[in-house]
Amino acid sequence: MREYFTRLVGNDETKNRIGSLIDAGRMPHAFLISGASGSGKMTLATEIAASLNCERRGESNSPLPCGKCDACRRIYESNFTDVKVLRKPTDRATIGVEPIKLLREDMFLSATESDYKIYIIDDAELMTPEAQNALLKVLEEPPTEIVIMLLTATPDKILTTIKSRVQHISTTLFTDAELEEHLCARSDSARMLKNTSPDKLRAIVMSSGGRLGEAEALMDRKRAAVCESEREDVLRIVRSVRHGSGYGETYSAMSVLPTKRAELSRMLELLLSALRDLVTLRHSPEARLLFFTSREECISLSDSIGWRRLYEIYDAVCKAYEYCSMNANVSNLVANLTAQIRPV
Ligand SMILES: [Zn+2]
Repeated sequence: MREYFTRLVGNDETKNRIGSLIDAGRMPHAFLISGASGSGKMTLATEIAASLNCERRGESNSPLPCGKCDACRRIYESNFTDVKVLRKPTDRATIGVEPIKLLREDMFLSATESDYKIYIIDDAELMTPEAQNALLKVLEEPPTEIVIMLLTATPDKILTTIKSRVQHISTTLFTDAELEEHLCARSDSARMLKNTSPDKLRAIVMSSGGRLGEAEALMDRKRAAVCESEREDVLRIVRSVRHGSGYGETYSAMSVLPTKRAELSRMLELLLSALRDLVTLRHSPEARLLFFTSREECISLSDSIGWRRLYEIYDAVCKAYEYCSMNANVSNLVANLTAQIRPV
């Protein structure tokens, strides 16, 4: 069978399905590609765009796209007139109707260097309802030879009327085992780490949340050191709320939390993964862990914090995480959280 979309790792069923459609010349004119952040939505969209324009698309013994011809290379370099990517402007919170109208006008001009004109809209859920309605008009009566791809992590926020006119594809994150396998297949240092310190490799895999790009970035030594120290900080916080610890321990553990919003948000996310492990393991001892590499430590911490407190703390951190994204004052937020989670 022909190999499709080799730059996208995993997602085999999707790759074969869409690749065969392209080969058969039965390309739908619009797609909704949904999947968590980091699951390869843009890579998939770029691979589809390259496949439709690849100079070797007719040669069944070549992977599709070939990745080497002039068209493929220029599409990878975002330097191909007939493939356009629309993103939210950096100074705006949404994608308004104006850029969609411009795109729509462009869709009715003929392609300049290929058979297809391709439009990729990243974070499509950020389109205002007005923008989505403007796009809907094209989807109802699309010009021939155009392909529109809407990328989103939250398909619920796309109008149902749009969703009913596009073909759905979803990209998935990897399980820890798959991620470790792909990482080792692609990186010498990951293979080495697997032999020398498998625990460290495991920590990297678990911190990557199923994202290969993130795991590869964490293989970088500096990033790995940051990741390790963040994990230690979080572990210190969790240990500090055990029954019998003093207030001081929690205050001092919480005092190392970063003061920049984005960094704090990341740490709170990590703390939530750790707490989620503690809660989950009480229900299902075989559950997949997101943070802890040692089940024993996880069980012992969970026991010593206690059921009720664990839920209270989890709740408090959830709220703090939510407030953090809503522009709440960062130092007040940490102070309040500390008061809520310290041992009673
Ligand atoms: Zn090519």
